[in-house]
Amino acid sequence: MAESRFAFIFAPELRERLLWFIKLRWLAVAGLVAASMVGPRIGMQSVWPSLFLVALFVAGYNLFFLNVFRVAEEHGQPYGNLRSCAIRQMVMDLLSLVVTVHFSGGLQSPLLPVFAFHMAIGTIMIATRIMYVLAAATSLGLLGLYMAEGKGLLAVHPVDPTRGMCGRACDLNLVALTVALFGIVYLTDSVTSRFKKRNIELYRTTGKLQERTTELQCLLDEIAELEQRKSHYMRISAHQLRSPLGTVQTTLSVLAKGYVDPASERGRRLLAGAIERVDGLLAIVNDLLELAKIREGRGRAPWSQSINVNQLLADIMDALEPLAAQQSVELVPDFEGVSILEWGIPPDLVNAFENLVQNAIKYSHQGGVVTVRLRATETSARVQVVDRGIGIPEAFRDQVLLEFVRAPNAKRHAPEGTGLGLAIVREVFEAHGGSVNVESEEGAGSTFTVELPLHFTPPEARKSLQLGNGSGYRPQTERAGGRPE
Ligand code: ADP
Repeated sequence: MAESRFAFIFAPELRERLLWFIKLRWLAVAGLVAASMVGPRIGMQSVWPSLFLVALFVAGYNLFFLNVFRVAEEHGQPYGNLRSCAIRQMVMDLLSLVVTVHFSGGLQSPLLPVFAFHMAIGTIMIATRIMYVLAAATSLGLLGLYMAEGKGLLAVHPVDPTRGMCGRACDLNLVALTVALFGIVYLTDSVTSRFKKRNIELYRTTGKLQERTTELQCLLDEIAELEQRKSHYMRISAHQLRSPLGTVQTTLSVLAKGYVDPASERGRRLLAGAIERVDGLLAIVNDLLELAKIREGRGRAPWSQSINVNQLLADIMDALEPLAAQQSVELVPDFEGVSILEWGIPPDLVNAFENLVQNAIKYSHQGGVVTVRLRATETSARVQVVDRGIGIPEAFRDQVLLEFVRAPNAKRHAPEGTGLGLAIVREVFEAHGGSVNVESEEGAGSTFTVELPLHFTPPEARKSLQLGNGSGYRPQTERAGGRPE
């Protein structure tokens, strides 16, 4: 695997190693200072002040790198540019080491093994191919140094001046060192490549795990939001049921305790009021059950194919004509084109469109006009129910599609109503892959726009398609062997 040729450790680990390296470098600085002091006493005159200057140089760039880390951390990017920083540190170290070697005996220097240490650590931290380049550069650097010393271009600083130049032994030293540098890079790489590979896999798995965790967190947030909505919905439902129930209970206890004679005029009025309240309660309970059924997708009529929207709307308008006439409202059809839905639940669609047209009639003034408009496109059916009635106050416009929301002007105009009709409407159209929107101006009228995709495949049908034929799901019309409704 190509990546195993590269040094690959996690950024936090690399950062920790580099900081450890910086600490270690202070030890090297101390060692160089000590060597520059002690050297002249054991016959190595050349190390003072040269090694001391090298120590100052190393301390200088060590401080520089320490500062780089500090600044990166302050800027909230502790892991930025770590790899190039590691390479730069390695280059500076090798350079200082070559200079130190020059002042401590050249190819006789006791510090030559330190190169091996650098090559091994470098191969773990830096890409292997870069370490090969650095090994080559170091060997060439030492060769240049050796040749310059040999030609007298640079002074020679032997470890033991009494023994003079090292001659053939130094030639061999150079060859052995070059082989050792490359060999250590190669061996370290082959020993650590398996760990590097595992590190890469771990890195990828961690990434995937993080992705999954984020997805899971999103799902948990969604569930929490749903839970919140559910309890909000239950609270509102209970609240809506409590007030009429309270009124009925008071009426019944007044009558039961004999404070009012049920046969008296007042008693009859109280009873009539209680019956009205119970009717309202029943309407709410029925709507709540309907809403629950749609949301749970349970107990609904089956999905059918090829639903003719024009026919559906025309039937609804016929059915509601008497109600419109009773309110002196004119019902006007305005259909352009024919829309056939691939899939639909006809009773639900009838219920939802009926609700919209009924509302338009209910919230119209006497002599008003309600237009049911259909515009067929290639991909969708756009139905608009337009009235010139009481309209919806701006503050309620975005909320009327939610449960139990009734605008004050609607309550004044038509006191009876559950505030659940539009919530049912929205659920039905969304279950058909569509949407419903409201445009309205208080006092001027409202337009409810329904957008239904023609080629929507319900989840139940999709599941049956995935399972293949004979899964048991077939549209009602097909099962009956008849034509679509
Ligand atoms: P209900 O009609 O029983 O109150 P709905 O859920 O059908 O419940 O409607 C919710 C609210 O939306 C109504 O109370 C009313 O404020 C507003 N609304 C709905 N349709 C219209 C309309 N055509 N014109 C004006 N207001 C409307």
